[in-house]
Amino acid sequence: KNALKNSINKLKSDSLASEDWAGTHYDWSDDVKNVLENSFKLTCFRQKQLDAINSTLSGHHVIVVMPTGAGKSLCYQLPALIKPGITIVVSPLISLMEDQVRALVKKDIPAQLITSTTAKEDTNRVLNSLKDKKSPLKLLYVTPERFAKSKRFMANLQKCHAEGRLQRIAIDEVHCCSQWGHDFRPDYKFLGILSSMFTGVPILGLTATATAHVLSDVQKILNISGCLVIKSTFNRPNLYYRILEKPSAREECLTILEKLLKYRYKDKSGIIYTNSIKDCEEIADGLKQRGIKVCFYHANLDTQVRSSFHIKWHENHYQAIVATVAFGMGIDKPDVRFVIHHTISKSMENYYQESGRAGRDGLRAECLTLYRMQDIFKVSTMVFSSVGSLDHLYGMVKYCLSGTQCRRQLIAEHFDEDWGSSDCNKMCDVCSNTNPINREMNIESHCKSLANIIDNAEKLDIKLTAQKLIDAWFLKGPVNVRHKGKEPNISRSLGEDIVAYLLIQGFLVETFHFTAYSTISYIVKGPNMDLLNDKNFILKMPVRKYATFDLKSMSPNVLCKTTDDKVDVDLQKRKLKSTDKEDKVKKSKTG
Ligand code: ADP
Ligand code: MG
Ligand code: ZN
Repeated sequence: KNALKNSINKLKSDSLASEDWAGTHYDWSDDVKNVLENSFKLTCFRQKQLDAINSTLSGHHVIVVMPTGAGKSLCYQLPALIKPGITIVVSPLISLMEDQVRALVKKDIPAQLITSTTAKEDTNRVLNSLKDKKSPLKLLYVTPERFAKSKRFMANLQKCHAEGRLQRIAIDEVHCCSQWGHDFRPDYKFLGILSSMFTGVPILGLTATATAHVLSDVQKILNISGCLVIKSTFNRPNLYYRILEKPSAREECLTILEKLLKYRYKDKSGIIYTNSIKDCEEIADGLKQRGIKVCFYHANLDTQVRSSFHIKWHENHYQAIVATVAFGMGIDKPDVRFVIHHTISKSMENYYQESGRAGRDGLRAECLTLYRMQDIFKVSTMVFSSVGSLDHLYGMVKYCLSGTQCRRQLIAEHFDEDWGSSDCNKMCDVCSNTNPINREMNIESHCKSLANIIDNAEKLDIKLTAQKLIDAWFLKGPVNVRHKGKEPNISRSLGEDIVAYLLIQGFLVETFHFTAYSTISYIVKGPNMDLLNDKNFILKMPVRKYATFDLKSMSPNVLCKTTDDKVDVDLQKRKLKSTDKEDKVKKSKTG
């Protein structure tokens, strides 16, 4: 029965999707044009806006998927003025609602909001206007909990519906329904009743989350499976994507940031994302000490302090804002020229959203990510308890590790899109690399060595973090867990890449262990380890190479610091160091 339902839904959505919704032959087409020009003072539609408007005005349930900043609001604000009645807009954030209502009222469009902090008289007035046939109200903004918690609101809304005045329900940030989305809000689950409670009222969901998984989940939760999905491209051609190798020393890391901000991004505005409050404050302090004007932003700051930093950054009193992901929705600075991730994001979805705050004005902007293996565990130990979070994180790691595949193509895959290489136009470090290596490396013997080390440690009842595992592999650390063979003939950082690669490929897995103060990630053998017993199986890893990158200047080849093949550089370093190696081994024995 379910299969039948699914195939009917598929047919339904296929036939809806095959229609061209961008036409100007509809009854309302003239009105749409007039309202666009006269009420919104805009001259033309952006990509897919007209499609969304026509399809929702046709009475279909629709989900609109567009990147942030593409103009989703207009897709429900404009239709609200075309037909009589009220449009309800569900939105997760009070500040977003306030901004929109303010902007609408300025345009003489009757819009209001009710939140938990709205004065009682105002709430009463708004609730009454739902019942009042003569009310001029066109758009009413509410938070999702209003549906769950206010009986009176529901009763009045039903009355409004019974009188045929409930025109449409728009649900902004509709991915919040889904646990698989990046910011699940429990109150959004209540919205599932809307389609049956208000029959005949078109639902319009809007989101910047494009993964097929989240979209089908959202449709299920809203009971509108098989609805029309209108999606515009997620490619941001003006954003340049790059991975930088993250040094292990805090100071070295600060030096990279310092050079970038002092030279490459001199007089330019940007964001530096970190994953902890501690890092956030420390990096901001470090940069301040180096004479750079920055402020910081995280969830533990007082709301007023936070918004004053935000405003001052917006007005360019600060060159950069160092922030945790608490710095998210509602950022609309058009000239953000760089977004640097000091620690990897917890998913590609998050990365796309966070880096996407760069270059809203359409001019070139850069999205840099500082990557090192240890950061995987910094993030995994924070997120592992929520559903699917490790898969999401490993998607991000895959993006960082890729040395042969275009970064933009990896982003496209994540959004189930396919962009040709021309879509990148050399705007990522992989495509702009003038000296690519495209080398694959057989890592079966390395994988077996690691498996042996883990087996041996298990016998000794010793748990290994990735760090300890790599130590043992490189014949460092406690003698009894050390690898019983030769030291691998590769650099340590290539070794780290191999471990990360084996993790995301399921040859190794993380297990989590709790102490009173923290969570620790230990590495054990993964389900795919068995594949090594198959004679026909070949385990290869593409070797990455960092392309030339100048921390000090935007124009290439000026003051250029060349990074040679990562593998070779590391090997050279190792050769230089090999003389004092015995020394170190002795030290690590004692220490
Ligand atoms: P989203 O919700 O998709 O992130 P918004 O609806 O907040 O985006 O719109 C982002 C900005 O784009 C707003 O400043 C809005 O006024 C502007 N905008 C939207 N549609 C158009 C258009 N057709 N022409 C010009 N500007 C537009
Ligand atoms: Mg929006
Ligand atoms: Zn590319």
